[in-house]
Amino acid sequence: MSDFLSQLNPEQADAAGTVNGPVLVLAGAGTGKTRVITFRIAHMLSIGIPPEQILGMTFTNKAAREMRERLAQLVDPKVAARVTLGTFHSFCIRILRREAKKLGYLPGFTIADDSDQQGLLKQAAGAAGCNTREGFPLAEVQAMIGKWKNRLLFPADAKRFADNGFEEACATIYEHYQELLELQNSLDFDDMLLLVHKLFSDFPDVLAHYQDRYRYLLIDEYQDTNAAQFTIVKMLIGERRNLCVVGDDDQSIYSWRGADISNILEFPQHFPGAKVVKLEQNYRSTSSILDAANAVIGSNENRHDKRLWSDLGRGEKVKVIKTAGGEAEAEFIAGMISQLKNSDPAASWKDFAILYRSNHLSRELEQALRRQQIPYRLVGGQEFYKRREIKDAVAYLKLLVNPHDDQSLLRILGTPPRGLAAKAVEQLKIGRAVSHKPMLEQLGEPEFRKSMSAKAAEAALELSEVFREYAEKFTEPGQLAGKIVGFLRSVGYLDGLQRIYKDLNDAMKRRENVDEFINAVAQFEERQTEPPTLENYLESFALLEENDRTDDEENNGDAVTLSTVHASKGLEFPIVFCVALERNIFPHERAVEEGSVEEELRLFYVAITRARRQLYITRAAQRMQRGMLKPSLPSPFLELLTGDVAEFPAADELLRPASEDSVRQAFADIFKMLDRKNR
Ligand code: ATP
Ligand code: MG
Repeated sequence: MSDFLSQLNPEQADAAGTVNGPVLVLAGAGTGKTRVITFRIAHMLSIGIPPEQILGMTFTNKAAREMRERLAQLVDPKVAARVTLGTFHSFCIRILRREAKKLGYLPGFTIADDSDQQGLLKQAAGAAGCNTREGFPLAEVQAMIGKWKNRLLFPADAKRFADNGFEEACATIYEHYQELLELQNSLDFDDMLLLVHKLFSDFPDVLAHYQDRYRYLLIDEYQDTNAAQFTIVKMLIGERRNLCVVGDDDQSIYSWRGADISNILEFPQHFPGAKVVKLEQNYRSTSSILDAANAVIGSNENRHDKRLWSDLGRGEKVKVIKTAGGEAEAEFIAGMISQLKNSDPAASWKDFAILYRSNHLSRELEQALRRQQIPYRLVGGQEFYKRREIKDAVAYLKLLVNPHDDQSLLRILGTPPRGLAAKAVEQLKIGRAVSHKPMLEQLGEPEFRKSMSAKAAEAALELSEVFREYAEKFTEPGQLAGKIVGFLRSVGYLDGLQRIYKDLNDAMKRRENVDEFINAVAQFEERQTEPPTLENYLESFALLEENDRTDDEENNGDAVTLSTVHASKGLEFPIVFCVALERNIFPHERAVEEGSVEEELRLFYVAITRARRQLYITRAAQRMQRGMLKPSLPSPFLELLTGDVAEFPAADELLRPASEDSVRQAFADIFKMLDRKNR
């Protein structure tokens, strides 16, 4: 047995040591599934499998990073770096970058973000003859197309499957939308899977190449894979079938995004002869926390019964606490965190997590933490990157690497104002329709300039020259941050902020944010082993899924984590607060309407099982909703936490008055320190 297998229990070692053939680990939270994946890779390396042949896929970039770090602690970091580890999307994009031409794209393709996508969809809907002005269900159309893509359906297939008026209209829009994307050399998020599938289907030699390259596949959080991912995996493993997947059907929480739980439940049928390993010992949580987790998930009807146990001791019972309102809830949590941190010299801020069902619930929590000067980090906090000035800066960069990206050009043309107004846009659109020339290219041509005023013509020429000049400079990898500053200045963006945001304070704030963005680029560069290209950066930027974004780390990363429950999947924290267990909040109102309460319950199970030592579940008796303070009823989920598995103290029973307490605490800390020194 290799050194690595001996650090696993017998079942885990069995799964990690079975390197050939299909293996499924189906097990509850905290049973060491992710550990099996990491140790299995280490084991494979130790028996001489080349790192280049190993492909590990996880659900978020954060999880992939963590896995790489864990692996680098087990084996030579240089070897660990040669293993391919990432998300499905990052893996697909890597392949597409190399093979783009075969699919009719140029290698510099860009990734359409949500707002690009919506712009294109409107355009496509217009082309399909829909009235896009009033009451056009943009979000529904977007979701429908996404669903089709995740089921690997191209527009022609969608047309065949559409079985009502709405779907037929969507299918036509889909067709136009896809043409527009291609014309601009852009992909949307779902295209990545769709196109890799197409590549593998249409080019058997390409598939054979990747089958030969990646001979061992490992997938974490397999319960949340969708049909497209499943098919790609199946193609990639080919006859070798060296595939190890781990997951927990009780933690399937992405069906709203097309995840298909039957992928994991039917694994033995999909891959006959598969070894199936079950794990029941939980190494994360105390028995009290597991009792609560078992009580909650046990009430779901459609599931395999698994009971978790642990030998980490009983620990404290789960506490369910009612507070007067949202603000009181936030103050209570901040107060508890200070108190718990102060009473234990070994504790750090990063031992605490606060989890919530929906993003907007973080606001009051953030305020309370700031008031009590507790450092925190927001996971899933996309605010920063959603700011207009950042999206504009990114649009400039996207256009630089992909001159076909009209959507980005339209975004930056008047930002700042250059005298290229509606008339120019109209002209560019006509030009694009007639000559198929990308808009950026048109700007530099006499044809286009002739139709403009002298001033506008000059501005257009200048803009196209700067793009030409910097496209050249960026062909050389490395020094991205410096070059980006030069580019954004030359192109008039940095100094133009004042003209875009007329208010001086506002403009200054925006400038600070752009600077912060450039800092982030510099940090990205530092983390790379080789000088990155601008494409590399934009790619990593596009792949920062909403779930996955972390605000900048202060305090050397020692901060309380604030996260949605979705984004907390796979993570663990000694002390967890799960907030707002109220009707219509958790379970989410929409889920109740749509009959997906079981998925909400799984989500609650995910939240509970993040906790290692202590779990606090809170609710408020009233809460601000759409600007009005309204009574809030307890979540029906709380009924599952009976006196057997939980206790119900009052908030001020737990929270000692801060002032005298902090003095007492300061002394206690000093005595403890002296005590340790004397020992
Ligand atoms: P989740 O379902 O939440 O993703 P998981 O099954 O992936 O959980 P891990 O995160 O791999 O569980 O493991 C949970 C914790 O238990 C980790 O801290 C891990 O290091 C520890 N652990 C797992 N197996 C063992 C073991 N055999 N010996 C010691 N510690 C273990
Ligand atoms: Mg895990």
